[in-house]
Amino acid sequence: MTTTAVRNFPMLIGGEWVESADLLEIRDPQNDELVATAASGGAAHIDRAVEAARAAFREGSWSQAAPAERARLLRAVAAKVGDRLDELVELEIMANGATIRQATGFHIGYVAPHLEYFADLAERYAFERPAPRATFPTLAQSTVRKEPIGVVGAIAPWNFPLLLALWKIAPALAAGNSVVVKPDEKTPLSTLEFARIAEECGLPPGVLNVVPGPGPEAGARLASHPDVGKIAFTGSTEVGREIMRLAAGTVKKVTLELGGKSPSIVLDDADLEIAVDGVLYGCFLYSGQVCESGTRLLLPESLHDEFVERLVERAKTIVLGDTRDWETDLGPVISARQHSRILEYIASGVEQGATLAHGGGVPAGERFERGHWIEPTIFTGVRNDMRIAREEIFGPVLSVITYRADEEAVAIANDTSYGLASSLWSGDNDRALAIANEIEAGSVWINDAHQINCQVPFGGYKQSGLGRELGPDALDEYTETKNVHLDLSGRRDRRPYDVLLS
Ligand code: NAD
Repeated sequence: MTTTAVRNFPMLIGGEWVESADLLEIRDPQNDELVATAASGGAAHIDRAVEAARAAFREGSWSQAAPAERARLLRAVAAKVGDRLDELVELEIMANGATIRQATGFHIGYVAPHLEYFADLAERYAFERPAPRATFPTLAQSTVRKEPIGVVGAIAPWNFPLLLALWKIAPALAAGNSVVVKPDEKTPLSTLEFARIAEECGLPPGVLNVVPGPGPEAGARLASHPDVGKIAFTGSTEVGREIMRLAAGTVKKVTLELGGKSPSIVLDDADLEIAVDGVLYGCFLYSGQVCESGTRLLLPESLHDEFVERLVERAKTIVLGDTRDWETDLGPVISARQHSRILEYIASGVEQGATLAHGGGVPAGERFERGHWIEPTIFTGVRNDMRIAREEIFGPVLSVITYRADEEAVAIANDTSYGLASSLWSGDNDRALAIANEIEAGSVWINDAHQINCQVPFGGYKQSGLGRELGPDALDEYTETKNVHLDLSGRRDRRPYDVLLS
């Protein structure tokens, strides 16, 4: 491997930037070129990082700092992320193939506002909660304390590498924990640079550690480490199950954000122009490589032909190309492995009798001969029991399924092992709100899609996850709850000891 031309990114352990003999190759998915290398950590690096995080937690300059002090630092980091937006965008897109428009407006653009939200939350969160004075079984005053857990392990995926790591780092830090992050091996760069920014802003050494490395080694060690009190994971449902197994050994707290097969339900009174754009945005944003992507389109039979015609016409306007060109709408998919997996799913759709209405292959043109490109693909005539309707493809494949009545749409929408999100398109808010109550999903967007709002919880029903990220209760997932009971009776009432001592 030639590494002279590309920058190497060391990992961050205990305030030191650590090199490793093992290197991760970071490749640009649009042409498969080597664009950087990063130190690859194994179990021993994770052990060092956890030890550093534990030492920083015990030392106390972060864990015992006033919440307002922690908020001040998170705001400083947010400001610096804003100053270095372009650099972070470049580090993100050179590894994960997002377009510059998408990374600026979403992946990296959301980082500073999310940090600001968690800074506010650190100040607002009730870390001390006096309970009502007890008179039974004895006179006492309890105070419920929300204390940081200690060392939090965060395992992040490649699709929104920094943002999804931040959903774990920010609440963990706001609550006073130390953190060890294990980014995906394909996309560690933006998270490493973020950690550098946090260090420059004065986050004490060891409070935030970043160890990129292979999931089954570095990730598995983090999930099973006896000194890690909580593990927060975003990724596939399959690996999520493994994380639960690994965490069970030491009964760690666990939050999981997993896969999805989200429905986009168009009602017969929807504004078709808005719904067509919304459905395309819901499914094809970042080539469907978003956990909540609306990959099953449920259409009333009466609207089917007109809607599909409009959908295909509009899909033809989506421009694939250079991810650094502001005119480009869509980039490649992440890897050769995902590329062939998605093409296999498309072949299975054809084999199982669905009709290819748009796309279905690699786009034509010299640019698309290298890298991992797939056309936005629309299947009609899909039944909900076909593989393309049941399994998470994580690619730009939309399955159109028809229904007759609203109840049937709800039944099809809920006929999945997942439950992350759903979109509903209707001109009647009351009708849509009533249907939203019937949907088994953690988010239901009415006349909208992909609306990630840090002020409300995000997460999944069923096999889409465990616990919630974001929202006003996010710090609950990063704190232990302690009740401190103070006796005020002076034992004069002799209760409750009198059940034993007469
Ligand atoms: P993945 O599960 O393969 O990898 C996710 C992370 O887990 C990576 O850091 C990887 O290195 C690590 N990992 C892999 N094997 C491991 C093991 N045995 N032990 C510990 N860690 C291990 O998923 P992916 O391909 O990176 O991401 C795509 C998946 O993530 C999709 O299924 C998608 O739906 C899901 N996702 C969910 C959300 C959400 O919020 N619910 C968000 C984004 C992505």
